[in-house]
Amino acid sequence: MSSRSSEGNLTIGVLALQGAFARHIEALTACGVDTVEIRQPKHLEVADLDGLVIPGGESTTMSKLLDSLELREPIGKLLADGLPVFGTCAGMIMLAADVSDGRADQASFATIDIGVRRNGYGRQLDSFEADLEIDALEGDPFRAVFIRAPVVERLGSGVEVLASVDDVPVLCRSGSVLVSSFHPELTDDHRLHEMFVGGLAT
Ligand code: GLN
Repeated sequence: MSSRSSEGNLTIGVLALQGAFARHIEALTACGVDTVEIRQPKHLEVADLDGLVIPGGESTTMSKLLDSLELREPIGKLLADGLPVFGTCAGMIMLAADVSDGRADQASFATIDIGVRRNGYGRQLDSFEADLEIDALEGDPFRAVFIRAPVVERLGSGVEVLASVDDVPVLCRSGSVLVSSFHPELTDDHRLHEMFVGGLAT
C-alpha cells in the first residue's frame, strides 16, 4: 500500500488542527519521510498517505474541529481501511475505544481497543517525565514527557503494551495502531517515530 513521493519517500499525514504537530513534523522529517499537514479534507487527497500522526493537544477541541472542518468522516474511513496511525497524548484519546472524563460531545475514532481517562494522572502529576524501558528500542531508556496525560485504564485483547510507568501502560500497539500517553516529539530522541516509520516500510 506504500505510495512513494517523487523522491521515493514515504508520506505521513500529520493532523495539524491544533496542538503539538510542528515537533512531530520535525521528528518525521529527521526520519527521512515526507509530511503533509492535514487541516482540510483536500489535504488527505494531496498524497496517497502511508500513515497518519495525531498529535497531543486538547482532544475536546480536536474533536470539535474534526467535525466543523468535515475531517472526521474521511479520516475515520482511512483508519477503518487500516491506515497506520500514531496517536500521542490527545491523539491517544482520539484513537481510544472508550474515553472517561471526556466532554459529552467529544468523540473518538475508536481505532484501538483501550479505555483511557482524560487528565487521569491528577493535579500533582499534571506534568512529569519518566525514563521508559522499551524492549523494541535499542540503547538507552526513552525519556518520556507527560503533559496532562490520559491514563490507560483498560486494555482489550490483542493490545500489546510496549512500555509502562508504575504498571500503567503508556505505550501500546495493536496491529498498525501505535499510541502513547506521552509526547515523544518533545525530545530529540526520534526512535519511536523511527519505529512507526519502520513499520510502514515493511
Ligand atoms: N488533556 C488533554 C486532552 O484531554 C491531552 C493533553 C496533551 O495532549 N498533552 O486532550
